[in-house]
Amino acid sequence: MLSSEIYDIIIIGGGVIGCNIARALSKYNLKICLLEKNADIAMGTTKANSGVIHAGYSAERQYIKRNLCIRGNKLYTQAAKELNFPFKRIGSFVVAFEVEEIKLLEELRKKGIEDGVLDLELILDKQKILKMEPHLSEDVIGVLHAPSAGIVSPYEMTFALAENAAINGVKFFRNQEVIKIDHSEYTFKITTPRNEFKCSNLINCAGLYSAKISKMLGLDYFDITPRKGEYILFDRNSIQLNKILFPTQTKLSKGILVCPTFHGNAFVGPNAQNINDLEDTSTTTAGLKEILEGARKLVPNLPLRASIQNFAGLRAVSNTYDFIIDNTEIYGFINVAGILSPGLTSSFAIAEKVIDILELLGVELKLKDNYNPYRPKPERFTDFSKKQLEKKIKEDSSWGRIICRCEKISEREILNAIQAPVGATTLDGVKFRCRAGMGRCQAGFCRPRVMEILSNELNIPYQAITKKGEDTNILIAKTKDLLLTQLLEKGNLK
Ligand SMILES: Cc1cc2nc3c(=O)[nH]c(=O)nc-3n(C[C@H](O)[C@H](O)[C@H](O)COP(=O)(O)OP(=O)(O)OC[C@H]3O[C@@H](n4cnc5c(N)ncnc54)[C@H](O)[C@@H]3O)c2cc1C
Repeated sequence: MLSSEIYDIIIIGGGVIGCNIARALSKYNLKICLLEKNADIAMGTTKANSGVIHAGYSAERQYIKRNLCIRGNKLYTQAAKELNFPFKRIGSFVVAFEVEEIKLLEELRKKGIEDGVLDLELILDKQKILKMEPHLSEDVIGVLHAPSAGIVSPYEMTFALAENAAINGVKFFRNQEVIKIDHSEYTFKITTPRNEFKCSNLINCAGLYSAKISKMLGLDYFDITPRKGEYILFDRNSIQLNKILFPTQTKLSKGILVCPTFHGNAFVGPNAQNINDLEDTSTTTAGLKEILEGARKLVPNLPLRASIQNFAGLRAVSNTYDFIIDNTEIYGFINVAGILSPGLTSSFAIAEKVIDILELLGVELKLKDNYNPYRPKPERFTDFSKKQLEKKIKEDSSWGRIICRCEKISEREILNAIQAPVGATTLDGVKFRCRAGMGRCQAGFCRPRVMEILSNELNIPYQAITKKGEDTNILIAKTKDLLLTQLLEKGNLK
């Protein structure tokens, strides 16, 4: 079906980059939509990364990602206030165990300060270091402390960006994989298996698939290689870390880190392995062994028995090893590709850069009168006092029904996740929005109840409920119906 509407701007890809750009543009009087191939936004690289908001001292100076990271870090304070996503500046340590490494840290500090990461400090007092992070190995001889580094929940932040963009008028279309793009005069025609869309400006934020999208328009000037990073996540009550801990860095990545999530789980990873498959997020025994060995150098007493989940994310590495943010030779087509780490940190600065390009292209950027930059904080059962809870339950009894016991998530929170703008339609959508199923039992208890709520809210049968979209259905049929069909097929029932 061809939509008759011509959008001013279409964004391809609903990761943190696409959603950040969508939100940044939603303050202007423009007709905008975002197309995402998955059943939900934030389910690509944005879902599986370290969630670290880097201070910005680590990338080499020749890369644009260095300055975008430094600027991006600074933009988080205001953004977190407006959008109420989980973010904390807890500070990072780059840890040295050898004298040689101290020299490297001093160099990082000096260059970082010159480039605007002002609060960097080299700490060589072991007692002070161990007081700041008691779990760190006693072999430490010095650290580079970056107090401005922080942790964020990357998917919750992306949902916040999308919700705010949506209330400001951006349309989100999920399950819309772009498979063809035609360009004539000043219009792009974008084909997905379900629809056709038209626009005057097209922004490619398709992550691992961004080279493929660029090639649809004949622009074949970069490649993307997936680089896998594996992780191990620990139960919340097992080890409480104060700082983000990096080893002194390697060429391929920032090395295997040990870090807390915003919600208090510790995790270790990632390693770095170039692969061919854009969808291969499997973990391997060898990979997990590698990250454990690396992590133990930083924190020897990792609580292995408390590991609750392994997962992997794929970095979209371009052949320039830098971000590609290009006003391309096709008028109105912008590539935002190769956004590897620190892409999450840089995302607000990347959105600013895209706005500059649109301005250069002559797109009229007129501020909306009714733009609302705020997105309310999602209410949480665990944030309420006993008295507040009693009041809440009196007003709405669904606050009193705990569905996920591990994380203490009430039915109301699950309903809110589904009813939000760009709300959840899958089990993962619920899980990543409100944490139902994130705990120690990994949804063993709450999955059937969440399915029941999804079924009621979306008015769809249980069999239509999926983990994360097409071909990930949980149930095939009712057991009795299935048996009956089998018996009828075998001719045992007439
Ligand atoms: C292991 C690892 C650790 C990292 N750690 C950090 C960190 O600590 N700090 C930091 O700042 N950065 C980090 N990063 C980088 C950060 O995660 C990325 O820069 C960021 O998530 C990139 O977001 P994106 O929106 O470009 O990509 P994605 O999140 O992958 O979004 C792209 C979207 O496009 C969609 N799409 C693709 N093709 C199509 C199509 N044909 N039609 C429609 N939609 C399509 C995809 O489904 C996807 O949702 C890390 C990355 C990895 C892998």
